[in-house]
Amino acid sequence: MMRALRKLELTLAILKPDVVAHPNILKEIRSIILQQEFFFVRSKKLILSPTRANEFYKEHEGKFFLNRLVSFMSSGPIWTHILARENAIPEWRRIMGPTKVLKTIHEAPETIRGRFGLTDTRNCTHGSDSPETAAREINFFFPEFSTDRWHDTEGAYFYNGQVAFNEDLCQHVPLQHVSDSIS
Ligand code: UDP
Ligand code: MG
Repeated sequence: MMRALRKLELTLAILKPDVVAHPNILKEIRSIILQQEFFFVRSKKLILSPTRANEFYKEHEGKFFLNRLVSFMSSGPIWTHILARENAIPEWRRIMGPTKVLKTIHEAPETIRGRFGLTDTRNCTHGSDSPETAAREINFFFPEFSTDRWHDTEGAYFYNGQVAFNEDLCQHVPLQHVSDSIS
């Protein structure tokens, strides 16, 4: 039987400063992501300046929580990831759980935010909410990355499962040498 060809969708995930400050929680969230069969396409650890955090969250200009959010997001290191999966955008948001942790703890306690979230601001993770947002947010953190080029080059290795997870890079890397030598 032929396996259905599933389209890999890309999304931007952020593990926020509350997570990165706690190595055990960081590790647990990474293993949830892997268990849920996401690929880590690119990963970067960085510290956002308040200016960059403001720019990233500019859609929330005027909201009561923006200052709090910006100072939290620039308070310590974050990990940003390009994740790939079938339906990556809705699936990543589904396993994150709803935004408001103080409700999510009761209503979706099995989700990442339900399990590890601290407050409505310190809520563990970010996930793009639409394909347009994902494109903008991937470009914000990975300006050197081209989605089209990725699909044309590395993409094939991911579709064929010819990738291995590299813990140090926190990325799945194509098994180029293996496939070169058998082709
Ligand atoms: N946020 C907050 N208070 C709120 C709502 C949101 O501090 O009442 C923060 C929270 O960290 C959230 C981020 O602002 O993740 C962006 O808000 P959004 O509504 O886009 O939620 P998300 O897309 O992250 O679920
Ligand atoms: Mg949002």
